[in-house]
Amino acid sequence: MKIAENETGRIPTTPLPPAGAGPQVRADGLGRTGPGETAIDWIGRLIAFDTTSRNSNLGLIEEVRDRLSGLGFVCRTTHDKSGAKANLLASLPAGDGRLDGGLCLSGHVDTVPVDGQTWSSDPFSADIRQDRLYGRGACDMKGFVGTAIAVAVAHADRPLTAPIHLALSYDEEVGCLGAPALVEDIVAQGLIPDGCIVGEPTMMQVVNAHKGANVARCRVGGLARHSSLAPEGINAIEYAARLIVHIQSMAGRFAAEGPFSEGFNVPFTTLQTGLVTGGIAVNTVPADCDFTFEFRNLPGVPADAIFREIEDHALGRLLPEMRTPNACGCITLERLASAPAFEAEDGSPFTRLVREITGDHMMRKVAYGTEAGIFHQAGIPTLVCGPGDIAQAHRADEFVDLAQIRRCEHVLTELVARMCGAVAGAPISAPSQDPIPAPSGTGDGRRMIG
Ligand SMILES: [Zn+2]
Repeated sequence: MKIAENETGRIPTTPLPPAGAGPQVRADGLGRTGPGETAIDWIGRLIAFDTTSRNSNLGLIEEVRDRLSGLGFVCRTTHDKSGAKANLLASLPAGDGRLDGGLCLSGHVDTVPVDGQTWSSDPFSADIRQDRLYGRGACDMKGFVGTAIAVAVAHADRPLTAPIHLALSYDEEVGCLGAPALVEDIVAQGLIPDGCIVGEPTMMQVVNAHKGANVARCRVGGLARHSSLAPEGINAIEYAARLIVHIQSMAGRFAAEGPFSEGFNVPFTTLQTGLVTGGIAVNTVPADCDFTFEFRNLPGVPADAIFREIEDHALGRLLPEMRTPNACGCITLERLASAPAFEAEDGSPFTRLVREITGDHMMRKVAYGTEAGIFHQAGIPTLVCGPGDIAQAHRADEFVDLAQIRRCEHVLTELVARMCGAVAGAPISAPSQDPIPAPSGTGDGRRMIG
């Protein structure tokens, strides 16, 4: 399919060309390095699977696994408890069969729903209009994942000095639920890559830090009575409210006393309650109240300590009071999601290499969470850098500019050359021979992109 300005084309899901097929040169320049399929082919194939987080992603995962296995990748899957969702780790071994070290390219394959959105084209069929590729996940983040697969596949018939790992996760959009098992498996297998790119949309700029994102639910159980007998009941809403106020006071303390980190648009740890339900009637002492709160901790501020402080107040202070004189009150706290904060070591060889290749030396700290913290926590040098603008994510008519895909392909190809290249012994800190021009952008380092 030829893509030119003002031309509209739907992406066909093409069968894999026979092994040894020559590089495909396209009018748009995408995929010129590949012996097989192009980035656009792969992105289109991924978008065709409706992997909204509530659905199983096995169709997509099995398709990618089967295709990559056939090209010599070593594939491992890790499943969720239900078995309906899986992470995929597909590793293209080095020439000597080695699987440890090398470059890891990681992205989630779940997407947010299209419910209630009006799209100009089928969200599950990639559509190219005016140099943009439209579809659910085009930007967040099947654009990156498809490009990463295409770049890895392009090296399937070349001897590498170090492996390329593709790490695809499930359920990022609902709290980074899949990535921990994926990373645990990478560690358990002793694969620890030399560097990992998490390709969330950053306009191919380098993001080196973000806050942690933590979600927890509190359930308060009281004792129902007619409201005229209120002192005989236990008012679950009122105890929940006291814990909510405590959470608010902790937020106030972080805002006033820090710690602070320059470069974040909100330079301190935040907490807030976002959902509350409780009670059945105004004249009944409420027996139940549930609320859900979140906190976003700066790198270096331990999430566990924040949660423990809330738990201590609930169980050590409020609960004994609730149970006097009726011993039937209860408070339960449950952590629903926890994505660790992330801050890359700026002087590390991997960070230096990525900055050199992208030409981007700005410090960028963002307020949203990604899976980068999970990789970083496991000792894998990690950065966030991917095609597309987060402003396009999660919306109707989500798109990614083809120029961004092209740039991503350049950066990943250069990273593979430098970290896994066929030239023996090239260290990843070696100076670049062919730096890619720096991206345009404000580079103010304070823009919240999610
Ligand atoms: Zn994302």
